[in-house]
This record gives sequence, C-alpha cells and structure tokens, in this order.
Amino acid sequence: MKNKLTVKTTGRYKLQHRGVYCLNCGHSLDLSDKYCPNCSQANSTKKLTLLDFFEEFFTNILSYDSKVLQTLAALLLRPGKITREYIVGKRLSYTNPFRFLLSLSIIYFLLISYNNEFESWNKFGSSGNTPAFNFQDRIENIEFDNEEEKKIALAALDSLKNRSAIGSILNRRDSVILANPKKHFKAIKEEDLIGKYLGKIEFFSTVIKKDTIYSFQESVTKYEIPPDTENKMAFNLSNSLVEIKKRPGTFINTLISKSPFATFFFLPFFSLYIWMVYIRKKYTYTDHLIFSFHNQSLLFILLIISYLINAVFNVRSEGLFLLIFAFYLYKAMRNFYQQGRFKTIVKYIFLNSIFFILGAIAIIILIAASVFTY
Ligand SMILES: [Zn+2]
Repeated sequence: MKNKLTVKTTGRYKLQHRGVYCLNCGHSLDLSDKYCPNCSQANSTKKLTLLDFFEEFFTNILSYDSKVLQTLAALLLRPGKITREYIVGKRLSYTNPFRFLLSLSIIYFLLISYNNEFESWNKFGSSGNTPAFNFQDRIENIEFDNEEEKKIALAALDSLKNRSAIGSILNRRDSVILANPKKHFKAIKEEDLIGKYLGKIEFFSTVIKKDTIYSFQESVTKYEIPPDTENKMAFNLSNSLVEIKKRPGTFINTLISKSPFATFFFLPFFSLYIWMVYIRKKYTYTDHLIFSFHNQSLLFILLIISYLINAVFNVRSEGLFLLIFAFYLYKAMRNFYQQGRFKTIVKYIFLNSIFFILGAIAIIILIAASVFTY
C-alpha cells in the first residue's frame, strides 16, 4: 500500500491549515500530526472547496478499488496465502472477507436473476397443452427394419397410454372432491396425522385448481372449514404446489437466485468440519471461517467470469471453471494449512465429501422452505 503511506502536504493539508484538536473525534493533536492518530481523519481546518470535496470522494473510491483489486489479484494468483496474510494481521491491504463475499453474491444474484435461464421450463408445467397427436397411426406408417422393433415401439406406446390412464384416475378423484367438498373435507378428519395432512393438501390443491379459490379465507367461507393454523398451512402449501406445477421454471429460478445467500448460513456449519480436520493446527474457528469465505468468494468470481464468457461466446463454460476451482481449492489448502501433498489430498477428499453431503441437506431445506414460502 505505497499510496497510503505517502502523506499529502499540499493544498488543505498544508501546515498552516493544521489544528490542535481533531474536528472529527476531538482528540488533541500536534501541529506535526498530518492525520489524527485516533480516527485517522486528515488534520486540516481549511473549509472544503468543491475541488477538495471531489478529491476526497475519488480518493476514497480509489482506495476501495485498489483494495478490491489487491484482493482479487491475491485470490487468483496466491490462493490460500491471502487468508494467511489476513489472519496474521495484514488487513488494511485487503477488503473485509465477509463484505467481499457479500458483494460478490449480490453481483452473482443479479446476474442469475437477470438471466432467468429456466423460464423456458415453464412449458413443462401442467397448464401447457400437449398437442393431440396420433402415435398409433405414425407407428403403423413407419417402415421398421424388423417386427421386433415395431413391437418395442408399440409397447412404448402402451405405456404412454397407461400413464394417461393414471391421469384420468386422478381426474376422477378430483370430481369426487368437487362433488361435495364440505362432506369430503369433514371426512378427512378421521384419518391419521399424515393421512390427514395429505388429504387436506389434495383437497386444497383440487379446489384451488378447479374451483377458482384464491385465498384461504374464501375456502373458509365457501366450504365451512375451521380457520385454524393447520388448515391455513395446508392451504398455503397446496397453493405453492399448484403454482410450482404450473410454472416449474419460475420456481427453479427463484430457488437458484436464493442460493448465493444460502451460502452465508451454510459456510459457518461447513467451517466446523474444517476446524475438526485441522484441529492440531493453531488456527481458531474464525480463521477457518475466513478461509472458507475466501474460497467461496473465489468460486463466485470464477462463476461470474464463466457467466460472462458464456454470454459473449455463446458457450457453456461452467464445467471448466468448476474444474479450475477444484484445483484452486487444493492449492489454497496446501498454502494455508501447509501440510504435505498426501495429507492434504486425504483431507481434501474428506472435506469435499462433507461439503456435498451438507450441500445436499442445505438444498433440501432450501427447497422445503421455498415451497412453504413460494
Ligand atoms: Zn480524530
């Protein structure tokens, strides 16, 4: 940080403008003090000119920018070493790891929300009409190489017909519910706990889909349903499920756009495992947490680069960048924890397995939470 150390002595920083106490915090100053030792504001009593004001503004931006650039460069060029330097005390040169990760996840969040990649999946939703198509005729007209192939094709057709048979059974159940909704809902009460809840979900899904019910209150008045918490929860869940079935792509998009923020809950848990694996190293839990923040930041940086490359060259580069990240992660572990290749590889494999197991659990919780709040 050479630019930090060069203290300005021109303009409003001249000796004649210096005061004997700090205008920001009141700390008493010496005329030789260029900056307040207590709060680091410049020792200047001169009124700000417009020029001074802009200069101050740009100095702040530039110093923040240079911190960001230094952090970026260190992450990309010296994986692991940046965490080492940061925890032993070299902090002012780099941005705060937590704030850095937060900024990156916001950028990543904006990119993927803008992208809405899975919107096209909405065509698989239940309201999407499948065009009427006579497969039987088609198969009869195709010239098969042998009878065997024709048989396979006809068997596949049969299984398709069976599936639509299941559909018509479900439709029949719907009409049973709709025939007398009040009576049907009362009958649900007699079942066991899980059966009761599933019955209620089935009931609400049907009336939401087929009877144009928009709110829980409507169903309370229309079907004389007790307005208790359990019924309300079942209603909300059914409502989400109907929406998800209608527009699965939109649901996947919201799910993915939540994931950058989910990492903030995830990493503190994961760091506990890193701590366990390196228990004999003299690092604190916070040190391991900072290590995982740095690595997560690097992952976001690589994914953002990959996203930009995809957009410009119309390719799919995520896989390549994940491979690059896997390599970086190994390097970071070697440099930060400074253990031999073999030990590092064993711990690398172990921690990655834990990462995927925890990740799977986190995804399930995220999906469950999203379904309830969708
Ligand atoms: Zn001060």
